[in-house]
Amino acid sequence: MTFVEPFPDELLSSWLTRMRPNRNAMNEPSLRASRNSAGHWRHPDVHPTKSMITELASNTGIAPTQIAKLGLCYRYPRINPDFVAWRYVPSDYLGRDCEPALSLRITWCSRCLAEDYAGGRAAYVRADWAMAAGGFCSRHNWPLVDRCVTCGSVDWAMKRSPQGPPRMCCARCRRGLERANPGALELEPAAHSLWKMIAGFEAALRDALTGKVPDQFRFNDTSASQLLDETSTICLLLARARRRAGLRDELFDRFATPALTLEHGCPDEPSCEMPLALASPSLRRCLIAICAAMLDADYGATGLCQGKLVVDIWSRTIGSMALKHFIQDRLTCSSTLKRKLEAALHRNEQFERMSYLRDASHTYETLFQDSA
Ligand SMILES: [Zn+2]
Ligand SMILES: [Zn+2]
Repeated sequence: MTFVEPFPDELLSSWLTRMRPNRNAMNEPSLRASRNSAGHWRHPDVHPTKSMITELASNTGIAPTQIAKLGLCYRYPRINPDFVAWRYVPSDYLGRDCEPALSLRITWCSRCLAEDYAGGRAAYVRADWAMAAGGFCSRHNWPLVDRCVTCGSVDWAMKRSPQGPPRMCCARCRRGLERANPGALELEPAAHSLWKMIAGFEAALRDALTGKVPDQFRFNDTSASQLLDETSTICLLLARARRRAGLRDELFDRFATPALTLEHGCPDEPSCEMPLALASPSLRRCLIAICAAMLDADYGATGLCQGKLVVDIWSRTIGSMALKHFIQDRLTCSSTLKRKLEAALHRNEQFERMSYLRDASHTYETLFQDSA
């Protein structure tokens, strides 16, 4: 094994892959998810065991704290499964032998990879690329992708060549993944301020995952755990609001635009169990943008909030029972969001009363005309 230093922002499995040049370390048993003694799934990139860290430290001479930081639970002590990007989460009800293992959905920033390549550095997977709390690269405010721009394959590998450092390449067409998405290049001039704003909200989520108190100018009277729980709950209630599909479409019509999905057409249907964690990068950007519009005061400064208020449409979509329940949950819902939701509830009730009156008066007029 060659001992290479991990990059400070690298994911554990990425570092191990770089240390084992002749094998695909991503498929190694030590890097596969497994159940712990209590029967819960654990992924080594998220929860590396203490024994694994100690063993790696003694084999490589690298400090255990430096290695621990490559695991998401050390980098983000408040992390929970809702904020990790999963490709597959096994059901608790399936038989233990026939279920596929828990697996991460790794995305990447083509600009970071292009910088690695141009700088003669080895390509590596950044820890944040395995997070559901991000649809943009925080360094480049650039949309993350999870498939090859040339052939659409989601399979990739670190390719070594005698001429240069390892590159992240598509496993099907073999092209380097540092190629930028042509759609994103075309959209960038117009979408840049939106991307920057959403990336700023994602940075606030990542800070909250480290336990840092959110900026009180943007998230007044909101704790780190409230910001995280509000984000998860907004996505979950929206994903479960299937009965009001029309209203939900109104919300997605506003956000599922090429600026966020990088393509025409709707993103995938959100999961009712873990909407953010199981979303594709396109759907993830739409969901995070909806949360930013409802929670982040900076969103109002972008000039994006034209038309009906997002919080009003969201509140009508999830229905008044679910809304009242959410407002009463003082642990999850901050006093600021409570006020916004109560105001939305009030406006929606007024709107419904007005449309009821309009309908009634229309019926009355028709009746009058008929009898005349
Ligand atoms: Zn980047
Ligand atoms: Zn390809």
